[in-house]
Amino acid sequence: MVDGGGIGAGASGRNGGFLFRQPLGWINDLLAETLEIYEEVSDGPVPFDLAPWPMLVLAVEEDELEAAQAYAEAVGGEEVDLRADPWFADDLAGAFVVDGGRTLDAMGATTALAQAARREGVEFRLGSEAKRILVRGERVTGLATDEGVLPCERVVLATGPWLRLLLRSVGVDLPFTSSRGWLLETGPVDPPPRYAIEQALWPMQDEMAGIVGAPTVQEVADGAAEDPGIVSLLLGARPDGRCLIGTSLRRSLLDDPEGPETVRRLADRAARVSPALVDVPVVAAWSGRRAHTPDGLPVVGPVPGVEGLVVAGGFSSIGMVTAPAACRRLAAGDTSLFDPGRFAAH
Ligand SMILES: Cc1cc2nc3c(=O)[nH]c(=O)nc-3n(C[C@H](O)[C@H](O)[C@H](O)COP(=O)(O)OP(=O)(O)OC[C@H]3O[C@@H](n4cnc5c(N)ncnc54)[C@H](O)[C@@H]3O)c2cc1C
Repeated sequence: MVDGGGIGAGASGRNGGFLFRQPLGWINDLLAETLEIYEEVSDGPVPFDLAPWPMLVLAVEEDELEAAQAYAEAVGGEEVDLRADPWFADDLAGAFVVDGGRTLDAMGATTALAQAARREGVEFRLGSEAKRILVRGERVTGLATDEGVLPCERVVLATGPWLRLLLRSVGVDLPFTSSRGWLLETGPVDPPPRYAIEQALWPMQDEMAGIVGAPTVQEVADGAAEDPGIVSLLLGARPDGRCLIGTSLRRSLLDDPEGPETVRRLADRAARVSPALVDVPVVAAWSGRRAHTPDGLPVVGPVPGVEGLVVAGGFSSIGMVTAPAACRRLAAGDTSLFDPGRFAAH
């Protein structure tokens, strides 16, 4: 395993770690399989705080209520009256509790999975960036890296938002685009929230490409790169009472994070929802980049036209829910749902 950074250098080490049921059935199928994988590794040497946590689908304003109701209906959520709960502002439009959610510490889980792979004999070459996939006669022969050429017959490309760069080195283009999302971490919140909260502004998986698809040159010239994107509250407590406050969805053409505006909008939304959060210190803020596909489904499987080249990516905002199961399916030879062939242009 070659990674230009360390374990969890990309979004996998810096996400919210929320595992929620969703209106789309294929996501829930993967969630069930992924939970089995997390359970398997949770008794290993690296803890990652996997815990059941009820999800609250929240309509902050009246115009979010319809989306919240539809989400709750699709996943069997129950309406709850938040006015009786002093943790919440008393003028929120509505909320629904959905059971079956989990949270985990993202960096812990990613490190635990890497440790499980090491136990199975995987060798890690960290801090070594892959520069080109090497092919001869449309067949993979190796990988050129910082450390030199690694001869091999198979490359599984899982470089998140950077997928398109290495694919180009073998003349393949897959239509991945990228978004950036932010998280804030607070000091301990007393009392901590009882729910992991998802505001009903977050788009459904099949709507994302419309928001983060590649803009044209004219659209960039007209300011598309400055489009502020969406801020939709995603908030949950960690076992020690700290809270994570997310998140945002903004098209990302740039490796560099945008300015502090998104962080301000997130804090503003959190203070709007809960008086318990207003005076809590914010101790950190960071962002990560996600990879998206035009149909919202991941791309996991062999790349047509290049023997030995496999891709696993496009996990969007639900990679902690879907990637472990999708990759286990890949290892078992089942790539039916996420076949790269649906997009491949070689
Ligand atoms: C703010 C935020 C919150 C999120 N919250 C959640 C959540 O609550 N639940 C959920 O399910 N999902 C969440 N996600 C989404 C989830 O984090 C991603 O879908 C998932 O981590 C993607 O995993 P990946 O392995 O495809 O990519 P990444 O984790 O980005 O990994 C890509 C790796 O490739 C390496 N790399 C790139 N180029 C090269 C190269 N040339 N050579 C060598 N190595 C290279 C990078 O160093 C990196 O380690 C969130 C994402 C963000 C940004």
